[in-house]
Amino acid sequence: MASHQVKFDPKRVESIIVVGGGSSGWMTACLINSRLNEGGHNPVKITLIEAPDIPVIGVGEATVPSIRRTLQAIGISEKDFMKGADATFKSLIRFEGWNKDEHFDHPFDRRERPQSDPALLSWLAKNEVGGEAFSNQFSILSNTSTNLLAPKALGWPDYQSTFPYAYHLDAVKLGQVLTEFGINHGIDHKLTKIEAVNLNEAGEITSLVSEEGDEFSADLYIDCTGFSARLASKVMSETQDYSDTLLCDRAVTMSVPYEVFRPDHILPYTSAKACDAGWLWDINLRSRRSLGYVHSSAHISADEAEAELRKMEGPHADAVEARHIRFKTYKRKQSWSQNCIAIGLADGFVEPLESTGLYMMQFAAQSVADILRFGHRYTPETTHQFNRLMQNLFDEILGYVALHYLTSKRRDTQFWIDATRDERIPHHLKYLLSEWKRRPPHDMDLLQTHRLFSLESYEYLLIGMGFMTDGDINAKHTAFDNSDALRKCYAKLPLHEDWLNQAIG
Ligand SMILES: Cc1cc2nc3c(=O)[nH]c(=O)nc-3n(C[C@H](O)[C@H](O)[C@H](O)COP(=O)(O)OP(=O)(O)OC[C@H]3O[C@@H](n4cnc5c(N)ncnc54)[C@H](O)[C@@H]3O)c2cc1C
Repeated sequence: MASHQVKFDPKRVESIIVVGGGSSGWMTACLINSRLNEGGHNPVKITLIEAPDIPVIGVGEATVPSIRRTLQAIGISEKDFMKGADATFKSLIRFEGWNKDEHFDHPFDRRERPQSDPALLSWLAKNEVGGEAFSNQFSILSNTSTNLLAPKALGWPDYQSTFPYAYHLDAVKLGQVLTEFGINHGIDHKLTKIEAVNLNEAGEITSLVSEEGDEFSADLYIDCTGFSARLASKVMSETQDYSDTLLCDRAVTMSVPYEVFRPDHILPYTSAKACDAGWLWDINLRSRRSLGYVHSSAHISADEAEAELRKMEGPHADAVEARHIRFKTYKRKQSWSQNCIAIGLADGFVEPLESTGLYMMQFAAQSVADILRFGHRYTPETTHQFNRLMQNLFDEILGYVALHYLTSKRRDTQFWIDATRDERIPHHLKYLLSEWKRRPPHDMDLLQTHRLFSLESYEYLLIGMGFMTDGDINAKHTAFDNSDALRKCYAKLPLHEDWLNQAIG
């Protein structure tokens, strides 16, 4: 194995160019701007360049709770963000049809975990695993979501609640909100397409050239140009393909405005329904529903997938257009090399089953801001550490998403037969999967310090899916009862729609 050479050669950063005006470009630029330029004077000049004629991907509607921290760090109010981005609350993901007809939840909260968790062991010893029963006992949000309640009361401060919560949002509108916010807070915005990337002999970017022939240079370049990875594909072109782990490579999507069809309620959760050749998302925003069938092109054609989506949605889908998106499950081998960093789709992608795209991008942007915050400089050692962090995060997300297929008992179509084969199991999960057949996961299984998915997330998935069946768990019965906690929540939390109407208008 080649040894990593540490050379202390700090690079100072007084100017940054972010290329790309999608969610990752604007979130990265706004977050770094708020972190490095707080306090009025602007020691770091930030420019965002976006091509007016290359559209953003425009999907990315479900998030995880840490988005609240990011938006708060950027400095935008919760009300302005929710109003501008057509946002609603997300308390959990409800998985339907992944195992027989039952559904199970992956909520963001979990009852307090006492040491060795006697309540969990007692529950496992007494109950049949599988379905919604587990989250009903161990999560308040699972119960409040079924009753269509918001995860926070009216009047509670911005981004705060007793419970962790996230949002559903319109990715295009989020971009518009952040564009206005970023420009008002000093980000220099240029609308032009980058045609050429000039490198020096060492492989560093020296300048970018626009289609009009204008030249732009900075100390650091952040590539947020989506799957095209316009800069990163020149500086650190090597990528790793993970399509042997996850088979889905396309999505057909639709937006159903409420003028066309208004469901009875705006749900405070994402629905992920398993289908013959993939799965379907159903996300309720303020003014429309977003639907998408994520599928494997080796198992269903684009036309068949669209027909299946339309059939599931019913006659009102006739009035709306469908959009087809190709994607790849991949990761750039280096996220940061020389003076170029790839963030967002330019760095990698895992299908959106656990809403992780925006999280990966926030995590990267936050880490870059943390690195540059003190002294505005970086070293080869910093970039090495950043690359390790991003690869670890990617591996964790890939593994957790793959577990949804690997723990399912569905074998009713060729897709499910292929998606659940042992050869799909990522290396780091091989041993754990056999362990988790007979015992719940524990902290020792998940050694990384930076983790997106907690132990509780693994429990909700493995128990909800009915995977843990070989165990012989001996536990004393520990009585517990969540009815008191639920009663208090029902008294405090308003209906999701009432919260939206009263707080956002
Ligand atoms: C089907 C699907 C569903 C998804 N669902 C979710 C979800 O529910 N939750 C979630 O968190 N994430 C989701 N994602 C991921 C999410 O969409 C992305 O992480 C997010 O939108 C970030 O995209 P981006 O900004 O990296 O790229 P893009 O949105 O593609 O933006 C690229 C930008 O680069 C600019 N550009 C390109 N080339 C040039 C050039 N040469 N010069 C100048 N500018 C250029 C374009 O104009 C554009 O502004 C999903 C992704 C897919 C494919």
